[in-house]
Amino acid sequence: MICPVCNRPLKSKESIAKGIGPVCETKIKDHANEPLEGQTSIDDYLQGTHND
Ligand SMILES: [Zn+2]
Repeated sequence: MICPVCNRPLKSKESIAKGIGPVCETKIKDHANEPLEGQTSIDDYLQGTHND
């Protein structure tokens, strides 16, 4: 079993069960919590077009 993020072999049973290393799992979670830049909701887009 190899971590798909860093391509390093997973050693612990927990990591193998999850399919990812603990460090990379944390990185992915932190990255998932970050808001995507340039992401505009449809409401903001419509309000922007009508706000003349
Ligand atoms: Zn990894």
